[in-house]
This record gives sequence, C-alpha cells and structure tokens, in this order.
Amino acid sequence: MSKAVYCEKCSKEIKFRGDLVTATLFFVIVAYHEDCYVKDLKGFRGLFLDNQPLNGFLGNFLFVAAVLVSIGFAFGSMKWVSIIALLPVLYRIYSYFRFERKLEK
Ligand SMILES: [Zn+2]
Repeated sequence: MSKAVYCEKCSKEIKFRGDLVTATLFFVIVAYHEDCYVKDLKGFRGLFLDNQPLNGFLGNFLFVAAVLVSIGFAFGSMKWVSIIALLPVLYRIYSYFRFERKLEK
C-alpha cells in the first residue's frame, strides 16, 4: 500500500493533513489540496463534486449525527433508515483510512 496521497486536480503529493480535503465525486472519494478543491468546486467538476468536504468540521459533525441516527433506528421498526444513515459513516471511515491516516497533522 502506497503511503503517499496525491491530489485529484494537480496530481502532486499532499503532505499535511491540514492541506487535505476529501470529498465525494460521483460517489467516489477523492483527495485534494485545499486550494485545488476550491478551484475544482468552481469549475466544471463542481457540478459533480460534493461541496461538503468529508473531513471538515461539518463532515465530522454529520458523522456523529449519522452514527446516532443509525444506532437509534437499528432497534426500531424502520431499520432501513439506519442502513441509509450508515452510508455517510462508511464514507467518512473510508476517507480516514484511505487518506487522512497517512498524513501528518
Ligand atoms: Zn493539488
């Protein structure tokens, strides 16, 4: 497994976690430099790029909220809600292990 994380836009290595933005593009998780993410959001790809980074403050907040929702519904009669709520949780975990874990803070 390669240790380096490369930017989706400029293909250069992303070296620090503070410079990393992960987001979904067509349901695929991609990594960006912070600046490159902003540029891509404004460009053509912005149409398909989630404008909510997975690893930002709101991403973490949504992660916690999704975990609570999925636990809450798992014991009720509407278990399908917990499955849907788990999707962003899985995205967030994947983003962490695929990209964030490899970078220094
Ligand atoms: Zn870049």
